[in-house]
Amino acid sequence: MTLTSDWHIHSRNSCDQACITVDDLVRRAAEEGIRDFGLTDHVHTPINLPDLVSSREEYLGAVPESRFHFGVELSCVSQWELDRIAEGAYDGEAVYGIRQGGPAWAEPALGVTREDLTACGVEYVVAGTHWPLYVPFEREAIIRDYHRQNMFLAQHPLVDIVAHPWWWMGHWKDSDGRYTGEPWFDDFGCIPQTMHAEFAAALVESDTRAEANISANLLSGSYPERFKRQYAEYLAGLKLAGVQLTLGSDCHDAGYAIDFTEAARRLSAVGISDDDFWRCPPRDM
Ligand SMILES: [Zn+2]
Ligand SMILES: [Zn+2]
Repeated sequence: MTLTSDWHIHSRNSCDQACITVDDLVRRAAEEGIRDFGLTDHVHTPINLPDLVSSREEYLGAVPESRFHFGVELSCVSQWELDRIAEGAYDGEAVYGIRQGGPAWAEPALGVTREDLTACGVEYVVAGTHWPLYVPFEREAIIRDYHRQNMFLAQHPLVDIVAHPWWWMGHWKDSDGRYTGEPWFDDFGCIPQTMHAEFAAALVESDTRAEANISANLLSGSYPERFKRQYAEYLAGLKLAGVQLTLGSDCHDAGYAIDFTEAARRLSAVGISDDDFWRCPPRDM
């Protein structure tokens, strides 16, 4: 099987270490046989909305053909932090939101409006759970919090694709950069099946897609092999439950160095084929 779409790609306009130019991306995607794809730079809070404007400018400058689309990756943040930012309390310091000091189980929110997205010509929205919302670093609490954030995104009218469900970074990372235990890397089965069923039902009901993410989950060098196998089975379970899947490389590097061959091998091993992935229709030119 050959993979031919990619709906989650960061360019040098993202506020993190992402560094590819849009021209290089277009060239490399063609070399990799990726025919339908989209640019999705990060927006976490209103403070880094200018990054989306820059991303749009570089995208348009590349004179995109009809199968290269413009999207965005939003983060689930809290209404509490958005309110603090609106008050001016964290001017310029809250690009990644306010990660400490909020009320545990704070109300989830997105940092952009439909008007923001329309103004930047965004065709589709990828949104992900990236951080706990001030709950304790305990397995049970993190699982409950990530599930409720994923549910929020699945049902949000602005969200088209829930990015990398159950991706985790930060706390619990070993000194060698690996995750081996909490919150779910010793056994992905610690997450109740009822949560997976509820998430799948919400996605189907809302016509929202779930992402198979290559770099963040399927081929992450920080995650244990057993977890990655369990994770591929989880994606196959979403497909069986009627969820529309999308493929995303989550490229952050300068050369689009994504191992699509290995990703295809792992996906086909659980019965997921290239035809299973959603595609944004080509734009009228
Ligand atoms: Zn993400
Ligand atoms: Zn991403």
